[in-house]
Amino acid sequence: MIIKNVKVYTEDETFVDGEIAIRGGIFVEQEEAREKLEDEEVIDGEGCYAIPGLIDLHFHGCKGYDFCDGTKEAIAEIAKYEASIGVTAISPATMTLPVEELERILSVAAEYKKDAAAEEAAAAAKKADLIGVNMEGPFISEKKKGAQDERNIITCDASICQRFLDASEGLVKFVGVAPEHSENAVEFIQKMKDKVNISLAHTNSDYDTAMEAFAAGANHAVHLYNAMPAFTHREPGVVGAVSDNAHVNAELICDGVHIHPSVVRATFKMLGADRMILISDSMRATGMPDGQYTLGGLDVNVVGNRATLVSNGALAGSATNLLDCMRTVVKKMGIPLETAVACATKHPAKSLGEYEKYGSITPGKKGNVVLLDGELNLKAVVKDGVRL
Ligand SMILES: [Zn+2]
Repeated sequence: MIIKNVKVYTEDETFVDGEIAIRGGIFVEQEEAREKLEDEEVIDGEGCYAIPGLIDLHFHGCKGYDFCDGTKEAIAEIAKYEASIGVTAISPATMTLPVEELERILSVAAEYKKDAAAEEAAAAAKKADLIGVNMEGPFISEKKKGAQDERNIITCDASICQRFLDASEGLVKFVGVAPEHSENAVEFIQKMKDKVNISLAHTNSDYDTAMEAFAAGANHAVHLYNAMPAFTHREPGVVGAVSDNAHVNAELICDGVHIHPSVVRATFKMLGADRMILISDSMRATGMPDGQYTLGGLDVNVVGNRATLVSNGALAGSATNLLDCMRTVVKKMGIPLETAVACATKHPAKSLGEYEKYGSITPGKKGNVVLLDGELNLKAVVKDGVRL
């Protein structure tokens, strides 16, 4: 496939006029593609932006399905919807559920991944690739539980964590902890950090405790600002500790509901864009009409892109998708498009350890491209060199 007449997003985060060539589902050098193959599909991009396929590393579901439904059908339907809106690789999140149930959900995901690898190219191209799982619980804090069910919260336990990693056959890429909630948190982080990324998640930790966790090897913060103490001038909390640790990446939910635009702008300046990862944190109502849904077994009301628990009104994930979040960041929050694209493609790919295959339009990587017009409307999605 040739995609011509586009502004191509490059690895150094600029747009360059040009064309893109994909052969056998993989980006190839322009020279290799100069000789047009017979019957080769050519897309005229009409001056659109051509960006890498987006990667959402923290969301729960969409189109009525949730990753924690624990069925291959749910994962497949989620993967189809995500690909259709330009999110071509996914790392969905688990909720805080009983250990055995989480193990079962993770083993279903591992099976799904094996089935997907054996699928014909044309069928696989229609679905986002499952490249990770982000565990938001169960090692979190009741005090900042958000929409997580506190009955299933437990303290850090390396042998249980290992069971999760084994059940997922390596798919789990992030495990969230509230370091103040477990006496053995530092020991746990030191023990697990070389096997999986450790994130601070749903935590009431103060600055010092968060600093200890990052010194022990934690390297990621789950939805910065949400489900953690506020950043104030005498108590900087987790946010201050993230700012002070250059090795820590931070997720941001930029749906326009979870974080004020001014705080988003300030955070990009404070941390530097290279550490920012846009996520949707979407729940099953995404892509569906307003109404009542569930998240982790709890009832949730959805109106527009606001999802709240019926019981106490707490925010319960979002009802938007990553492409919309990226657009919101650019059009309503004043972050440059070149920066926002990196935060939805390159940075999540690096964080997942998958930048060899995903996250940029580079020869040798998977041929996943999203075309957006000047107003950032979605014009086309190409997955594995197939136009969806
Ligand atoms: Zn979440």
